[in-house]
Amino acid sequence: MSSNQIPRPRRIALVAHDNRKKDLLEWAAFNVETLMRHRLVATGTTGSLLHDRLELAVERLESGPLGGDLQIGAQIVEGQIDMLVFFWDPLEPQPHDPDVKALLRVAVLRDVPTACNRSTADFLISSPLFAMLPAA
Ligand code: PGA
Repeated sequence: MSSNQIPRPRRIALVAHDNRKKDLLEWAAFNVETLMRHRLVATGTTGSLLHDRLELAVERLESGPLGGDLQIGAQIVEGQIDMLVFFWDPLEPQPHDPDVKALLRVAVLRDVPTACNRSTADFLISSPLFAMLPAA
């Protein structure tokens, strides 16, 4: 990789519902050296886990059910998010389901690369296109 291909720091938003937090932590542990080169923002509990278990610097917002998903959605609308890793739970209804839908909706609307499972997250973070995204 030549010097002009070194990825500049991107702003990555991370959210995981309770039953998916283990998955997200395993994915983040596997990619920790890449993640530490970027700016991370997360909903409250997800962010605390990433910080406490992996010592990642994470901007922590409100917990998802208390409005954290909406805060990330607002940052997407403002063009501040380059990639969304959102491990939502396909097996259990969430009390904040309207917020979940709103976050996924703006991510699609604003064409933010979005991963909802580990394999997609791996594709996104390792993609040469990630290095070519305009910085948020
Ligand atoms: P949490 O929120 O990281 O605070 O658990 C995630 C969510 O439920 O959207």
